[in-house]
Amino acid sequence: MHSAAPYIGRFAPTPSGYLHFGSLVAALASYLDARQQQGQWLIRMEDLDQPRSIAGASEHIIDTLACYGMHSDGDILYQHRRLGLYAAQIDQWLAQGQAYYCDCSRRQLAEFGGVYPGTCRHRQLPPAEDHAVRLIVPEQPITTMDRLQPPFTQDLTTTLGDFIIRRRDGIYAYQLAVVLDDIAQGITDVVRGADLLDSTPRQQWIYQLLGQPLPRYLHIPLLLRADGEKLSKRLGSTPLDPTRAPAELFRALQALAQQPPASLRSASVEKQLEWAIAHWQPERLSPTQSLPHDRLFD
Ligand code: GLU
Repeated sequence: MHSAAPYIGRFAPTPSGYLHFGSLVAALASYLDARQQQGQWLIRMEDLDQPRSIAGASEHIIDTLACYGMHSDGDILYQHRRLGLYAAQIDQWLAQGQAYYCDCSRRQLAEFGGVYPGTCRHRQLPPAEDHAVRLIVPEQPITTMDRLQPPFTQDLTTTLGDFIIRRRDGIYAYQLAVVLDDIAQGITDVVRGADLLDSTPRQQWIYQLLGQPLPRYLHIPLLLRADGEKLSKRLGSTPLDPTRAPAELFRALQALAQQPPASLRSASVEKQLEWAIAHWQPERLSPTQSLPHDRLFD
């Protein structure tokens, strides 16, 4: 498990949209956690899926975070510049027989109903650019220990099967890149939305294959809209308005159940962050996977 290395945390947005309130809350949680432990906080752009990236979104996210007082402590890492590293790791696993090419069609995959039965595992398909690459999963279940959520156990063989690390269109999978980059950046603490809890056992498996220590995990509840849907870019949550930063930051602290005093409502971003770092208590969040968003605005 995790050693006593100095704390390094990160916020790793996907620039397929602008920063909205839900992502501000996630960024803030990771920032406060890092700062309270005198740690570093890094921003990483997860722009693997270039066709889905929106022009200017990365800059908008970085600039908006700056308006909210959050600046990366080191260079911002862009995943699209690191494709060679992901490819090299995949080649190594292919050579070791830990990964394999797969040419199953969409129709076949639909028939499998979400659990890949390992159809191409022993076919020894030759390299081809339009084949996917899958990583062989372990037979034993994997348990995620989290600072907030109850232990989460997943049997990758029966719930997912060998999963994709490079898609048929050549795009590298989030699951692979996130782990290689967290390792490369020395990340000790992953603080992110609880929608990613379900991805964590796959990521732990990659750490295990690479013989690397796991980070600590803190999965914070997701904000839900009044109708129960997750706040997300897809659902058109509005981009944050930097001119309203103090008011939005105050709401974000409320969303994180930090109970900021009313006197802080009109304080500057710097003052609010100072208070929030000193008082950060993630255990105030309830260990559920979601928080109704409308409850925040009484
Ligand atoms: N890029 C991912 C997202 O925006 C988050 C990755 C992570 O925090 O592990 O959902």
